[in-house]
Amino acid sequence: MSDVIHLLPDAIANQIAAGEVVQRPASALKELLENAVDAGATKVQVLVKDAGKTLIQVIDDGKGMSLTDARMSFERHATSKIRNSDDLFSIRTFGFRGEALASIAAVAQVEMKTRQKGEELGTLIQVEGSDVKKQEPTACPEGTCISMKNLFFNVPARRNFLKSNSVEMKHLVEEFQRVALSYPQIGFTLIQNDMELFNLSPGKLSQRIVGVFGKSYQEQLVACQEDTPHLNIKGYIGKPENSKKTRGEQYFFVNNRFIKSNYLHHAVVNAYEGLMSSDMQPFYVLFLEIDPTHIDINVHPTKTEIKFDDERTVYAVIRSAVKQALGAHNVVPTLDFSL
Ligand code: ADP
Ligand code: MG
Repeated sequence: MSDVIHLLPDAIANQIAAGEVVQRPASALKELLENAVDAGATKVQVLVKDAGKTLIQVIDDGKGMSLTDARMSFERHATSKIRNSDDLFSIRTFGFRGEALASIAAVAQVEMKTRQKGEELGTLIQVEGSDVKKQEPTACPEGTCISMKNLFFNVPARRNFLKSNSVEMKHLVEEFQRVALSYPQIGFTLIQNDMELFNLSPGKLSQRIVGVFGKSYQEQLVACQEDTPHLNIKGYIGKPENSKKTRGEQYFFVNNRFIKSNYLHHAVVNAYEGLMSSDMQPFYVLFLEIDPTHIDINVHPTKTEIKFDDERTVYAVIRSAVKQALGAHNVVPTLDFSL
């Protein structure tokens, strides 16, 4: 008899995990932006080259990391955000899996400079395909600057699967917009190949929406708010006449996390019944605040799908909030003369 099972080396295990966390530049950007927000940043700058294929750099003014933490942050399942399984049910941060940096560093060349408030020197660390190439003290601003270079440099098969720059850029902008929308109080900039695409100063949600989508949205926004014992809703919906044939400008945030849900989308659309034709899609940016013990966000690594323990109540509250908002703004039903 011979034994054939062995543990995989970390570098390979990380590369396999990376398959779930980092599919494309946009998924890496999402993780880096979320880390910046979790670190309490008030300003986040993003720089990308070649749609993130050669460089994604995220600079934050958040709390930074100690020398040991800087090294630890690249270990798999290493996190400062949860400690025990109870914490899993009361998550308030974006991250908690401790997988992102380990995954990103498994499939790219990563350089991080980080300094905690009050420390004289920060830490520079370079990791390439899970190998730590360099770690030394460095002078750097407070906060964290992380650069991800040459995504999939060591996984040619995956690099070849990347789409054209314009497609990858579209995904990057989408992730950027989602995070920017969910935190209007944080300033965000996005620069691509030396061109500034977004420069969003901290402000109110309505200002952020206009910053992200353009001035024409100013006139379209209808405030929507409802507080119930089970959940609170606030945000903006678009006027029925501004709805579009295509989807893409519909945003749900649950405890500030962007989520996708066809079921809840239907609750909104249903509230527009009689106000727009059924093949149209209304604009909305809605924030749901719900006790974290009533949701499970651990369903998927990218965490865009979550489970509610009482989905039907959430549906009913959304529908009623939207209906009320539309009514309060005297949106008159369009008359159907074809009958
Ligand atoms: P997670 O966010 O799930 O904890 P990550 O791999 O994304 O896992 O990050 C690991 C840890 O590194 C975080 O828990 C956090 O302590 C630290 N970290 C990552 N990015 C930053 C940052 N921009 N500023 C401060 N700390 C950070
Ligand atoms: Mg993270």
